[in-house]
Amino acid sequence: MRKSIKNTISIILAITCLTSLFMFSSSPVRSNALEIQPMYIACPIGPGQCKMLPRGGAWVSVNGVLQFTGFTHQCSQCNMAILADIDHGFGYLGSYYQFNPSYTLGLGGTSITVNASDISYNSSIANDPFLSDLLWY
Ligand SMILES: [Zn+2]
Repeated sequence: MRKSIKNTISIILAITCLTSLFMFSSSPVRSNALEIQPMYIACPIGPGQCKMLPRGGAWVSVNGVLQFTGFTHQCSQCNMAILADIDHGFGYLGSYYQFNPSYTLGLGGTSITVNASDISYNSSIANDPFLSDLLWY
């Protein structure tokens, strides 16, 4: 009788250990999901409140080869910047590069070398939820 109680406790302990092992081993899957980072951090003033002020020209290169020239705009509140081939006034940006230098860019424009995969293309600001939320100046 005593032995069977011991066996039962052993089995319960074993199941508990296996269950916690399974939970522990499955936890990295959950943390992987959290590794997906947002493309940009919302402006401190509020979502969609970035004030994109003109910051001169833009020269965007990949591996030393100029990809496009255009216009630099930067949020006066969170420093998020967009270097675009086409002026936003035309309703689209064409090729553009978005980044946050964490400081105010000079008024003389920005020349930058980037990875080809970091260059995006936009054919309509109105059809882009992110770009159409920005306040363009
Ligand atoms: Zn902003």
